[in-house]
Formats: sequence, C-alpha cells, structure tokens
Amino acid sequence: MPLPDFLPALLRPELAELHAYTPVAGHFPVRLDANESPPLLSAEARAALARAAAPEDWGRYPDARALDLREAIAAHCGAEPDEILAGVGSDEVISIVLTALSRPRQGADAASIVTVSPTFVMYKLSARARGMRVVEVPLDAGWDLDVAGLRRAVDFALPNVVFIASPNNPTGALMSEDRLEAVVTAASDALVIVDEAYIDFAPRDQLALLRKHPNVAVLRTLSKIGLASLRIGWLIGARELVAELDKVRQPYNLPTPSQRAAAFALRELGGELRRAAAAVTAERERLAAGLAALGLSVAPSHANFLWIGTRRPAGEVFEALAARGVLVRSFHAAGGRLAHRLRITVGLPEENDRLLAEIAACA
Ligand SMILES: *Cc1c(COP(=O)(O)O)cnc(C)c1O
Repeated sequence: MPLPDFLPALLRPELAELHAYTPVAGHFPVRLDANESPPLLSAEARAALARAAAPEDWGRYPDARALDLREAIAAHCGAEPDEILAGVGSDEVISIVLTALSRPRQGADAASIVTVSPTFVMYKLSARARGMRVVEVPLDAGWDLDVAGLRRAVDFALPNVVFIASPNNPTGALMSEDRLEAVVTAASDALVIVDEAYIDFAPRDQLALLRKHPNVAVLRTLSKIGLASLRIGWLIGARELVAELDKVRQPYNLPTPSQRAAAFALRELGGELRRAAAAVTAERERLAAGLAALGLSVAPSHANFLWIGTRRPAGEVFEALAARGVLVRSFHAAGGRLAHRLRITVGLPEENDRLLAEIAACA
C-alpha cells in the first residue's frame, strides 16, 4: 500500500535515508550478534531478581523520579543521585540528549554532532531523526582516535554534541587517554559524551575526565552484563545538565519492574555480576587465541566481543556461518576496510567452541 497522500509532505526528509532497526530474524542455535551476556547468572540470582522486580501494586505508575534506582546507580558509580539521568537503555538517554541539545548554532540551519567511524549506530540514527547533521571522522589504522581529524571536524562543524564510545563498538578498542582528553579539550564548546557501555570488560574507565572537564558526560548501561531485558542505561554528568535533560524525559519512562530489578542487581548482585564479566573476559582471551590460531587477525578487545579480519569477504563468511547456525555481525555493507571484518560476541564456552569449529571451515 502506498503512503496516504498527505503523509510524504509531513515526514521528516531524513527518514528517507533511515531504516528501522531489525535484528536478524530466524532460529540460530548460536547467537553471537548482539553483545548480550551469555546466561551466567545463577538460579538463585535469577529467582531473587524476579522477586525483587514485582511491584507492590501493579495498578500504579512507576516512580517518576526513579529515585531508589538513581541512588543505587550513584552509589555504584561514585556519583550523586542528581548527577544521574536514567533511561530505557542508553539508547533513550542518547535520544534525550539530542532532543535537548538540538538547537542550531547562531546562523546555522541545523545543529550537528561529531563522532567516529566505525562506531555505535544509534548516535547517527538518533541525530538524523532530529534533523541534525552528522560528521564522522574515521578511526586511525589502530582503531584509535584521529585527533587532528577530530579537531578539524569540531572546528568546521561546531557540533553541539561529540560521541566517543570507549571501549568502542564494533572495534572493541579503548581510546587512548591522552587522545580522548585532547578531543575533549578541542571540543570545549560542545557536550562530549563518553559512552562506556563495555566498561565492565575494560581495565580502566574515564570517570576522571568527567570530574576534570565540565563538558563531559559518561554513559553506562546494564545491557552488556547480563541484564539487557531490563532496558536500563544512564548518564552521569553535572547536576545542572541532568536537570535540563530531565525536562525532556517522559515522566514514567522506566517501568517499575525494571527500576526495582536494576536497583536490586546493583546493590545485591555485584559480586555475581563481576564474576560473570570476569568469565566473559577470560573466555574472550581464549576465543581470541583460538581465532588467531586459525590465522585470522584479531584486534585487541576490551569489550565482550571480538573484531576480526577475514580472508574471504566478510559478507560471505557471515552467510556461511549463519547457514551453519551461528549468527555473528557483519558490517560489510559499509564497504572499505569493513568489507573484511566481523564482530563476534563472546558466548558460553560451548558456543565459542562451535564458532571456532564452524569458522575454521569457512573464513
Ligand atoms: C550496546 C551499546 C549501548 C547500549 O544500549 P542500551 O540501550 O543501554 O542497551 C550503548 N552504547 C554502545 C556503544 C553500545 O554498544
């Protein structure tokens, strides 16, 4: 059915270039495509989470301020509750930031953002959906920040927001501290969001930058450490910034079960979550060694996935693996240096063994 006559004139023109985000459908015995945690939580922890999640009254709206959850997050991160904005995953936090900071600079007809490539796709999607311009600066050959390129982009685009994920998705690399700080300094007139979605698998975080530079905010999420079903992510930033962003947030954005389960997990399951992350990190190193032994190039990763180079075109390897029941993530459609790259989420030991056996036959 064609669109009703009146609609095309009303849709944002940017929608013509966007696609709805649809994970690959179908049955795959081994799914290593979405950077979720493998099921490592104990039966006791899962039962306790289910008990903690149940609202006292299913008929009431959630706590609009998510106060108990923000207190738990703040204690977990060494911040204050009014320095925390919690959202339906960091995806929602990204959209809140961009809605609030979408005012064009004086004389410009649209606001812009600067980010790197390749990186997490939601920065661009969310910005384009709001009519913002997106300037992407390629990472260098070691998948680290190109400071000179980013400086030029910041000077030329005058972005409202700069997004840097560290560790980055899909490359797994932590950004060099000195380079990240150089970008933060170069973009002193913009909000720099440092996305730490994978920080639980990395040796250091960037919270010190936040305390040192007033233009920095940090993003975190529960999605990669075994609690993706809750959809809880948050921003840590100056309380004055958080207060402005909070005006854009839907009042009841976080369902009661998610608020309650997340607060419980942060307070009571810390040991178990850390052990699960440590198990994933150890498995990551085993998987990396196994892939390297097959002659594949494996970039050093500080996340819960690996970024590998394939000899055959990545699209072909992706299809061959999928036909064998193993789903990974390919970015070959972007072409260039991504045409021979795959991102593989670290799974359970038996899933990783299956991946190794199948990729040996087709990469
Ligand atoms: C997975 C991911 C997120 C997480 O988003 P949620 O909405 O919290 O699930 C954020 N940033 C990056 C870089 C990611 O890879």
